[in-house]
Amino acid sequence: MSMVNDVETVLISETQIQERIVDLAAEMNAIYTDADLPVLICILKGAFMFLADLTRHLAFRHEIDFMEISSYGRGTTSSGAVRILLDLAADVQGRNIVVVEDIVDTGNTLTYILRNFAARKPASVRVATLLSKPSRRQIEVPIDFVGFEVPDEFVIGYGLDFAEQYRNLPFIGALKSEVYQQP
Ligand code: 5GP
Repeated sequence: MSMVNDVETVLISETQIQERIVDLAAEMNAIYTDADLPVLICILKGAFMFLADLTRHLAFRHEIDFMEISSYGRGTTSSGAVRILLDLAADVQGRNIVVVEDIVDTGNTLTYILRNFAARKPASVRVATLLSKPSRRQIEVPIDFVGFEVPDEFVIGYGLDFAEQYRNLPFIGALKSEVYQQP
């Protein structure tokens, strides 16, 4: 059975995502110059597709790096207990950082990431997230670039998974309830 049959609704289409990314890139192009030479830090795994599309629209020189984060436990909500599975390759002391996230939900993961980066003494830190669920926020987090605000629904596609699947879908969708309620 095709993965697409597991999708209840398409919340954000491929075209909408791609158009919004052009706008986000324009916002960033207005802020950063070659001399800033920012490091875009892709938070794996969810942000890989967003980073890949975003970076192709950036006009200023930049570097990319990756950090893989895992929330403890499984399920559809994060506890804020976070583990670093893969750390940055670059030393970001004195650098301009742009954290590239897939989704900010409770805000716990991003808070952890920002605290962790602050300890490395970067010159500046900004945050770009494709999605935000403001109604779920437990802790205030500063976000500089937001693609879309989404309602309190578990979303998949365009990098975001359910049980490691559906990341390859080119749109953001909601799963049919029977998919995640399987025994
Ligand atoms: P937070 O710590 O803000 O609650 O959650 C952040 C992380 O939880 C995201 O980076 C993502 O991995 C996961 N997450 C939160 N909401 C969703 C969702 O609706 N769908 C998916 N696939 N992951 C989510």
